[in-house]
Amino acid sequence: MIDLASVTKEELEALLADMGEPRFRAKQIMEWLSRGTEPGDMSNLPKALRGKLSEIPFGSAHIIETRRSKKDDTVKMLYELHDGNIVEGVLMRYSYGNTLCISTQAGCRMGCAFCASTLNGRVRDLTAGEMLSEITSVERAFPIDEGRKRTVTNVVMMGCGEPLDNYANTVRFLERATAADGLGISPRNISLSTCGLVPKIYSLIDDAPHITLCISLHAPNNEIRDRLMPVNRSWRMEELLPAAKHYADVTGRRVIFEYALVDGVNSSEECAAELASRLRGINCHVNLIPLNSVKERELNGVTRAYAHTFEEWLNKRHISATVRRELGTDIDGACGQLRNKHAEHAANDNTDTAKDLT
Ligand code: SAH
Repeated sequence: MIDLASVTKEELEALLADMGEPRFRAKQIMEWLSRGTEPGDMSNLPKALRGKLSEIPFGSAHIIETRRSKKDDTVKMLYELHDGNIVEGVLMRYSYGNTLCISTQAGCRMGCAFCASTLNGRVRDLTAGEMLSEITSVERAFPIDEGRKRTVTNVVMMGCGEPLDNYANTVRFLERATAADGLGISPRNISLSTCGLVPKIYSLIDDAPHITLCISLHAPNNEIRDRLMPVNRSWRMEELLPAAKHYADVTGRRVIFEYALVDGVNSSEECAAELASRLRGINCHVNLIPLNSVKERELNGVTRAYAHTFEEWLNKRHISATVRRELGTDIDGACGQLRNKHAEHAANDNTDTAKDLT
């Protein structure tokens, strides 16, 4: 389904023609949509047209709760979708701009053993408009500006959900997020993270070749990966790694492998050595992160000092790797944690979930 927030100018012109409205309205409406303004607030349109546009599903994502980290200014938020579903996002401040982590599905069906987003399965896919609204809602709530055109300069698709399990909406989102008459964000500033749906990685080469592809690897071999990520039973590392290499070779873009260090599972020097030998020849970088322990799971992370040791093990084998900066540790920065807490509170009929509002 196409929602108003994600229409192209051509689609909008066709829609206006059907309504018997003049074509020039399309430009005005596209301008409003690039800021995520809903029809009721499109103040330069006649009331009757605003009314007609309001009947089309918009694809809204309204911020209902925010938490600001006292340590580093990271802001975590919960969005409510039109049907009451809740997804989460995180706004991170860096010297080069502001990165927003967005969700692509309510819940997730990939079943990774360490991830909080997948505990209750997938509820539904997000539309392209809803993903765009996650960005524009944040921009309205935090008009930081600092001389920049947009608050959100970078986007990472690393919130709830598996973007390649919601492929058509994800591609439409990427087109609108990067189009000059959409949000106008540089594709190079958009990272898509996948657990490894191999055929869709090949499709992305045609559909979105300029973004940064991140692959959640988390293991040096199938045996360990099978334990952590059920998707590995469908797409083995023998298929995933060539797909990553192909993506890097064809697009000229370095692929990022994410590797969450789980104490005693994938963190030994032997694992580092095996990982290095398998990644050799792929234009890539490894992002290391100590696993964020999730209350509901029995897997534990390593210390940051240990993660730096693992980094050295990879570096000395000529694999580029860094330990990812940790942000928002005091506000449940990891996937799905805040959303789950919200659901728990709701289940306990606790109406106090907004107490941390800043
Ligand atoms: N489905 C996509 C994107 C969402 S998850 C994917 O799998 O890549 C974003 C990243 O956070 C992934 O690398 C995921 O494996 C990682 N992640 C999930 N739970 C985590 C945890 N508890 N600690 C550290 N990283 C985690």
